[in-house]
Amino acid sequence: MTKSPLIRVEGVSFGYQINQTTTLPVLNNVSLEVYPGEYLAIIGHNGSGKSTLAKHLNGILVPQTGDVWVDGMNTKERGSRRSIRQRVGMVFQHPDNQIVATIVEDDIAFGLENIGVPPEEMKQRIDDALQAVGMSAFRKRPPHHLSGGQKQRIAIAGIIAMKPDCLVLDEATSMLDSYGRKDILAVVDTLRKLGMAIVTVTHHMSEVTRADRVLVMEQGQIVMSGTPREVFIQQQRLEELHLDIPSASKLAVALHAQYPSFRETIVTNDELIGEVGRMHLQRTGTEVERS
Ligand code: ADP
Repeated sequence: MTKSPLIRVEGVSFGYQINQTTTLPVLNNVSLEVYPGEYLAIIGHNGSGKSTLAKHLNGILVPQTGDVWVDGMNTKERGSRRSIRQRVGMVFQHPDNQIVATIVEDDIAFGLENIGVPPEEMKQRIDDALQAVGMSAFRKRPPHHLSGGQKQRIAIAGIIAMKPDCLVLDEATSMLDSYGRKDILAVVDTLRKLGMAIVTVTHHMSEVTRADRVLVMEQGQIVMSGTPREVFIQQQRLEELHLDIPSASKLAVALHAQYPSFRETIVTNDELIGEVGRMHLQRTGTEVERS
């Protein structure tokens, strides 16, 4: 039996009101589903509407046409918004804009107070959230002394303390150095093991190739979707869209053109190395047999 979706985006169109007479159309009849526990990556050019779509997933923005449903609740219903934000948490690009308190634990407590978590439960939730992001030792520290990556981990802790079903990362690693990004990816791995759905808007291939599913956006529409393998094999189409292709995928396709038994549906460096090893064995084995 297939699981029912956690989030359903149905025929959503949206534009920003620029002034009294002008609207900038951004999303054009977008539909998608996010399933419990899945890791979905959204890629596309700057300005293609990724962030606008992400903000529809927990009701920060509401559609002008179409509907977004979170666990059966429509994001247009004002009365459901708090509950929706608790189910679907969002972390943004700039770490500094998301932290409100002067001590790490107070920052996490802030969100919990807002949703009325009793004080005795709060301590445990803060402990668990800080542990999940590997920041327990920083509980009493002022957040402004932390690195960008550490601040993002605190922002994530603030969200996961609310026990959401889905975490949306909107370019959450784009301001971080490679160490900060790696730490966030490790946190994402932990959250996936706990069964949380992850939606990431990103242009970092290392985040895309780990996803269960990739959506490609262009001019406010989803123009490609599938597993990373299914998407990254369509290299001509991705080049037309001026999008990055993982270097392992490019090499695999080039090698497949020369050696048809070389697997072309490769997305990670480890898979590529494995396939080169397999081919090497196959070829040297054949030569030994011949000699
Ligand atoms: P992406 O995340 O793919 O870069 P966005 O969803 O951020 O795309 O933006 C899509 C388009 O909407 C862009 O042209 C952007 O300039 C415009 N836009 C985004 N936010 C606003 C806003 N608050 N007001 C007006 N225009 C906006």
